[in-house]
Amino acid sequence: MTTEPHVARNYAPLDITVATAEGAWVTDLDGRQYLDMLAGYSALNFGHRNATLVQAAMEQLGRSTLTSRAFKTDQLEPFAAALAALCGKELVLPMNTGAEAVETGIKVARAWGYRVKGIAQDRAKIIVAENNFHGRTTTIVGFSSDEDARTDFGPFAPGFETVPFGDADAIEQAIDDDTAAVMIEPIQGEAGVIVPPEGYLRRVREITREKNVLFIADEIQSGLGRTGTTFACERESVEPDVYLLGKALGGGIVPVSAVVANEDVLGIIEPGQHGSTFGGNPLAAAVGHAVVDMLATGEWQQRARQLGEHLATRLDALVGSGVTGVRTVGLWAGIDIDPAAGTGREIGEKLLARGVLVKDTHGQTIRMAPPLTIRATEIDWAIEQLALVLGK
Ligand SMILES: *Cc1c(COP(=O)(O)O)cnc(C)c1O
Repeated sequence: MTTEPHVARNYAPLDITVATAEGAWVTDLDGRQYLDMLAGYSALNFGHRNATLVQAAMEQLGRSTLTSRAFKTDQLEPFAAALAALCGKELVLPMNTGAEAVETGIKVARAWGYRVKGIAQDRAKIIVAENNFHGRTTTIVGFSSDEDARTDFGPFAPGFETVPFGDADAIEQAIDDDTAAVMIEPIQGEAGVIVPPEGYLRRVREITREKNVLFIADEIQSGLGRTGTTFACERESVEPDVYLLGKALGGGIVPVSAVVANEDVLGIIEPGQHGSTFGGNPLAAAVGHAVVDMLATGEWQQRARQLGEHLATRLDALVGSGVTGVRTVGLWAGIDIDPAAGTGREIGEKLLARGVLVKDTHGQTIRMAPPLTIRATEIDWAIEQLALVLGK
């Protein structure tokens, strides 16, 4: 057992010490293998050390790695062009972590509110959803509904109003002349893969368009193939004004995030008004570009769709046998564990002992988000382990 006496205790990791990893599998210090059904919370959509992505990184390591945005590189514009095309948008603002993309989205929405919509200074409001997860900065945790995320970290930034997730009427009622944006996850990942009612995203799109409010979709976890489409918004044929991307955009190699929108929104940010030392660095751009190229063919999305159906069938069969509910979208599942079978954490520990890695969320739920490279037989094996752990 590895101890970490010098690591701050802001996480409580399961008792496994990963030494090496490849594809959907990780190997611990003793050479034991585990099937990774978490995939870095969707940061590893293409598996550990994906050969195409590692090659892109290695090639760029031999060319240039960091310049800061004080200078141009030959990597950023081709990456931005490819990502903009994937999103059907015009401009890309590169950052590093998801939280930075969210913060950037907030700044862009406010600036748009003042400069384009004509909201009075310092009055801009952004509507968010209950049980959201958008990251860990002080501004972002200020509009979290998770007490652990908030307690003792205030005072918080004003300018946010929370409404129930999945309730488009509540959004309509909350919008006033000072509203700059509605920012939601199209499917709430951390909350336990919560899928809103059919028609919700379409209604949010209609309302925001009607009322001249930006629709910001945080697709940091749901986007880039996970749900069986490039973006979860596509499930309702909805195009938000602003995409927030991260996690899988870095190919599991480097942190890469981005805000993607059209000229009329993102074009209002001028030199000096926003930035990042590492954002858009050539290594990140090379890896991010390779990720976008992989998604451009549609094969990964199709794979997530097909394997997702398989995963859903296998998981649905467990309902009533230690599982009280299952929500599956593409290769992404929230599984509610019957308290009689144990807590989410206990199930996670028992699965670990059987060689399967998952992460619990909110007590009784475990989340599965395997790499899109996983095979159907590996899914079957993981579900068999889950059935055994549930006492079947
Ligand atoms: C993970 C996540 C974030 C934050 O990303 P970090 O890279 O951890 O800062 C924001 N929004 C959503 C929906 C996420 O899943």
